[in-house]
Amino acid sequence: MFGSHSPGTASSACGLASTSSYGTLRGKVDGLEIQRAYTPISPANAEGYFEVLIKCYPTGLMSRYVRSWSTGDTAFWRGPFGDFFYKANQYGELLMLASGTGLAPMVPILQTITDNAEDETFVTLVGCFKTFEGIYLKTFLQEQARFWNVRTFFVLSQENSPEKLPQSYREKTRFGRLAQGLIKELVGSCRRKPFALVCGSAEFTKDMAKCLLCAGLAEDSYFLF
Ligand SMILES: Cc1cc2nc3c(=O)[nH]c(=O)nc-3n(C[C@H](O)[C@H](O)[C@H](O)COP(=O)(O)OP(=O)(O)OC[C@H]3O[C@@H](n4cnc5c(N)ncnc54)[C@H](O)[C@@H]3O)c2cc1C
Repeated sequence: MFGSHSPGTASSACGLASTSSYGTLRGKVDGLEIQRAYTPISPANAEGYFEVLIKCYPTGLMSRYVRSWSTGDTAFWRGPFGDFFYKANQYGELLMLASGTGLAPMVPILQTITDNAEDETFVTLVGCFKTFEGIYLKTFLQEQARFWNVRTFFVLSQENSPEKLPQSYREKTRFGRLAQGLIKELVGSCRRKPFALVCGSAEFTKDMAKCLLCAGLAEDSYFLF
């Protein structure tokens, strides 16, 4: 089963629950068997279903397969796989650095924290997108940012005018690329010693690891998805 959220993305509900792990989706395109990894964004305690946020690329093979789905189709998944497991109050503050669909593994962790009144972990989530339009899960992120222990920031690489943004985004949005200066500022503004989670393209992940080290985090103080 699946239902479209917005053009270019799809969500699927089947039979696998997970925290911050991923599953592999099997597909067939032009007779070719393919598999790709996707990260469930449903809450960790979801039972009997999971949801994924899939970006469909114009020339992507799995993207073509996903675009061919209709309501009621069956999709084949394996998993969960992955090796980051979140435990309540394990860290003072989580600094989540996500680019594009790299937001996906942050979603169940964030929700696990805010669903648990006894989890006092602070969260600073930084989402990097090309445009305001392109920010995923805006409503979810706005709701999460209302919790006392959650802050959200956005970095937009292809926009440069705050006046074009809704008022509620102006203060928490920066323009350009997420780079060393802002990472230092974010780490410095964390209310407790941060543990960073990074997910995005290979280049983004590599850049962020370098910036975090420069900002004073030790190698065992971040996890790269
Ligand atoms: C552990 C893990 C978790 C993942 N979780 C998610 C997730 O939750 N949601 C999600 O949408 N994706 C996720 N991905 C990426 C996903 O597995 C596929 O790589 C992606 O959907 C593209 O697959 P495709 O078959 O459509 O494209 P392919 O046929 O593999 O690629 C063809 C073309 O698509 C374009 N393309 C593919 N990937 C990218 C990219 N990252 N950036 C820019 N252009 C690209 C390029 O033009 C490329 O040449 C994850 C990957 C990993 C390893």
